[in-house]
Amino acid sequence: MFIIVGTGAGGAVIARELAKNNLPVTILEKGPYIHSKDAFNYYDKYNDSVDLLTTTCIGGSTIVSMGNMVRALDEELLEFGIDLSKDYEYVEKLVEVHGLDDSHIGSGTQAFLDAGHKLGLKTLKMPKAIREEDCIQCGKCAFGCPVDAKFSGKDLIDEAVEVGAKLITEADVYDLITENNIIKGVKYHKDGDDVEIYADTVILAAGAISSALILRKSGIDAGREIFFDPFVTVGGYLKDINFNTEVQMAGLVIGENFVLSPHFSSFIGANIPYDDVEDKDILSIMVKTPDDSKGYIDDNGDVFKTNTIQDIRYLAEGAATAGFILEKAGVDPKTIGSTVYRGAHPGGSAKIGEVVDSNLETEISNLYVCDASVLPISPGKPPILTILALSKRLSDYLKNK
Ligand SMILES: Cc1cc2nc3c(=O)[nH]c(=O)nc-3n(C[C@H](O)[C@H](O)[C@H](O)COP(=O)(O)OP(=O)(O)OC[C@H]3O[C@@H](n4cnc5c(N)ncnc54)[C@H](O)[C@@H]3O)c2cc1C
Repeated sequence: MFIIVGTGAGGAVIARELAKNNLPVTILEKGPYIHSKDAFNYYDKYNDSVDLLTTTCIGGSTIVSMGNMVRALDEELLEFGIDLSKDYEYVEKLVEVHGLDDSHIGSGTQAFLDAGHKLGLKTLKMPKAIREEDCIQCGKCAFGCPVDAKFSGKDLIDEAVEVGAKLITEADVYDLITENNIIKGVKYHKDGDDVEIYADTVILAAGAISSALILRKSGIDAGREIFFDPFVTVGGYLKDINFNTEVQMAGLVIGENFVLSPHFSSFIGANIPYDDVEDKDILSIMVKTPDDSKGYIDDNGDVFKTNTIQDIRYLAEGAATAGFILEKAGVDPKTIGSTVYRGAHPGGSAKIGEVVDSNLETEISNLYVCDASVLPISPGKPPILTILALSKRLSDYLKNK
């Protein structure tokens, strides 16, 4: 039997692939099974020193994602003998990755794309896993899609369950059962009880923070480092642009050390020195960068993070470029300001080459990690597609094994 812990980017593909091959799969999910539109209630809380966004519910953080799907870390993974090209093709087809139809590109996004082109920047539509026929263009992806128009891990878990996988929700996995350094099962809390469940193979896909804590409990030293792809949103005043209700992050500018994407933040309004400013008058851009793995997770699951000079330099380069784009797009330059620094892509807490090998197996036989924990360095761009491809690759490996 296979136990998969977590139903987000890492857990969902492997659950579907193994179950579709008639293999016995039990999926343990800490959060509840919810409707996507309620996902905003399931954001996690960390200590005050980091502003880190993750969710605990069916689908994990994929359920609040923007549906952005880009390939990342190809060269870095090749250094570990991991060639994801076929896996990318498979998962891109599975979740239907494409640039949005023009009908779903709003005026703020178009202004971003036009300005990027005029400035000679590498500018394109963001590859997305959003179904235009269902999308109502409400701008609420990060709250959880009200009409299920966007891919999330929940879709693939539903498919796995349809073909026989067992899903146990509100099952908080906290430890592993091992014997002679071989995995035998996991322990979890459910409804106030301590439960043990046995399996030949366990795949931890509980996200960069929980997977590291579970590993550490069993003596594997994980979570001593973590990155989280920091971001700020830079924006200003552009009267009646109505960007706040557009599909978010539908454009992309790729810089050497950052990516930029149009992204509404109501916090920008506080920087604008006009009395009449409303959300509909804000055009803003997310600046996302790769960061050094200078964070760590303590034994309580709190996350701490230090920024290096390079982290700050990359953010500054990205923010300055965002300012140029905003000005070119017609934003009043006197109003341009930034939000505080946040993170939404925790990873690198159980890196390939350190905690897992290139088949994602740990030093405990038949215990695998398959989520953002294993990424060797910060991608500085949306990681879901890479995690889905790694998950597909692991499912093939396990099927053959
Ligand atoms: C607002 C927001 C928007 C984003 N948009 C994008 C985007 O557009 N594109 C992109 O590529 N990335 C995006 N990301 C980042 C992306 O969602 C994450 O990087 C990705 O989901 C990480 O995958 P994962 O498998 O490591 O973790 P998750 O997808 O978070 O999955 C972890 C799973 O494990 C479960 N779990 C946790 N602890 C336990 C436990 N102890 N026992 C059992 N289960 C447990 C969780 O509930 C969850 O289901 C976004 C993130 C946020 C917060």
